[in-house]
Amino acid sequence: MFWCRTIKGGFVEIACLDLEGVLIPEIWIAFAEKTGIEALKRTTRDEPDYDVLMRYRLDILDRHGLGLNEIQEVIATLSPLEGAKEFVDWLRERFQVVILSDTFYEFAQPLMRQLGFPALLCHKLETDQDGRVVNYHLRQANPKRQAIVGFKSMYYRTIAAGDSYNDTTMLAEADAGILFHAPQNVIEQFPQFPAVHTFEALKQEFIRASVRDLSL
Ligand SMILES: [Mg+2]
Repeated sequence: MFWCRTIKGGFVEIACLDLEGVLIPEIWIAFAEKTGIEALKRTTRDEPDYDVLMRYRLDILDRHGLGLNEIQEVIATLSPLEGAKEFVDWLRERFQVVILSDTFYEFAQPLMRQLGFPALLCHKLETDQDGRVVNYHLRQANPKRQAIVGFKSMYYRTIAAGDSYNDTTMLAEADAGILFHAPQNVIEQFPQFPAVHTFEALKQEFIRASVRDLSL
């Protein structure tokens, strides 16, 4: 019979990554470019009320007759950012990796396939029998930060990386937070986080943030 010993104090580290802007392009923007539907380039910067923005997007999809199948076909033509797959592979050899994203499982699926399906926590779309997107369901309020809170309650040590405002509560809650591909205004507003722009530099930040010797 095996005897298990519980370990407290962060011996196991989880790497938490934002998805869009870090590993893959911004899906709505890329989708708008692929389909030529300019109106879908509207983001939370233009419309801060997320619910209003999503209703607007779903209405546009509907008007263009784009159901989930058509949307996934377009998204399947997108690729992860250059070097992203290799970076995820590198990270998964050294950490348990969880992607914390504000996208939807149904949108992310074709791109996650190209990344080798790392664990993903994000939101969910609701479709009808014909594949029409009729609603969306957020996983929970403040989902990125709450995931970190959850991991910490299990005594995991967390290192998080993201590119934008919606990541900053996650970075602050984590044991170590890293800005990656962040715009200059975010970098200036959050000087407490190291900011890097290449996957090689991001690897170095993860090595630096880890309490383990990852050089082996
Ligand atoms: Mg992002």
